[in-house]
Amino acid sequence: MKKVFVLVEHRRGKIRDITFELLSGAAAAGPELNGRVTAVLLGAEVDPFIEQLKPWADEILAVDDSRLKHFNADAYQQVMADLIKDHQPVLTLIPQSGFGMDLAPSLAVQLNLPLTTDCFEIRIENGTLTALRQMYGGKVNAWIRFAEAPGHILTMRSSSFQAEETGKKADVIKVDSPLTEEIACRRFVDYIEAAVGDVDITQAEIVIGIGRGVKEKENMPVIEALAEAVGAVLACSRPVVDAGWLPKERQVGSSGKSIKPKLYIALGISGSFQHTAGLKGADTVVAVNKDCNAPIFGVADYGIVDDLFKIVPVLSEKIKALKG
Ligand SMILES: Cc1cc2nc3c(=O)[nH]c(=O)nc-3n(C[C@H](O)[C@H](O)[C@H](O)COP(=O)(O)OP(=O)(O)OC[C@H]3O[C@@H](n4cnc5c(N)ncnc54)[C@H](O)[C@@H]3O)c2cc1C
Repeated sequence: MKKVFVLVEHRRGKIRDITFELLSGAAAAGPELNGRVTAVLLGAEVDPFIEQLKPWADEILAVDDSRLKHFNADAYQQVMADLIKDHQPVLTLIPQSGFGMDLAPSLAVQLNLPLTTDCFEIRIENGTLTALRQMYGGKVNAWIRFAEAPGHILTMRSSSFQAEETGKKADVIKVDSPLTEEIACRRFVDYIEAAVGDVDITQAEIVIGIGRGVKEKENMPVIEALAEAVGAVLACSRPVVDAGWLPKERQVGSSGKSIKPKLYIALGISGSFQHTAGLKGADTVVAVNKDCNAPIFGVADYGIVDDLFKIVPVLSEKIKALKG
């Protein structure tokens, strides 16, 4: 049987959410490609990771080597190239993250395999794979068809797939590390956590996004009252960051964060594609905008066409009353 590889991304002892999303995506695509979902785990002392991954894959290929403790693109490339040559997966999914962006292009060049980056959907029709990605800064969505090749490599954005445990029981194959010496060109020095500010909007369940429609910083208390009533954290569009009302860590979108709350309430946000790029993982989107033609209504599940300063205080009161 063929294989669909998913490269496991882990950091500081934790498997990153995107890995489970990609394993779920592979589980959906796998049967159409007649492929076994294979989690490819490179790391040091990987047994705890193996246990976590078992319900998510048909097979785990694990390479345990202290030189793989921290992500190192050179080391990963050597190991991945060997594994791909040995197992000939039809498809290799790699997270579109700092980690994946560092690794995938040189890996594809080394193996002479087609690579498509930053995809957010895949489709398989009659055994033929196509992948959706944006072009021209997000103005156009393009389906990419691949050249004939023994396998393809894709990097996938976070939230492209819903992480859903598949109840599998993976077979575990431990592979000897092909690394023979220390990786001299790069080495891990230190881990510096990116600033998330006082809250991490990527982990919040309810997020209120504010845009230029809020008009001025002095209007923020009205929004903060709603945030308090629903238990939301505040996020924003880029103009709000540019105006200095909220820090950059609260920006949602292509040059900000991708979020996956259960509920996103967009207040006075037009819904540019740069902003909505960060909303793919949101379960339910509610938009308040006084312009009925605002593009945000194209992605919203519920829309209120009205002045947010009329709506927000009423919403806050209603929610407080409901909560008793
Ligand atoms: C390379 C690049 C990267 C970018 N990255 C991002 C990004 O990551 N995130 C991002 O958000 N943007 C990003 N942008 C900017 C993006 O193109 C838009 O300019 C921005 O998202 C618009 O923000 P907005 O919706 O708050 O403002 P506007 O587009 O000005 O919309 C304001 C909205 O508020 C509504 N409104 C006004 N008053 C009220 C009221 N009283 N009640 C209700 N509604 C009202 C208006 O009808 C309007 O729809 C990027 C741009 C570029 C070029």
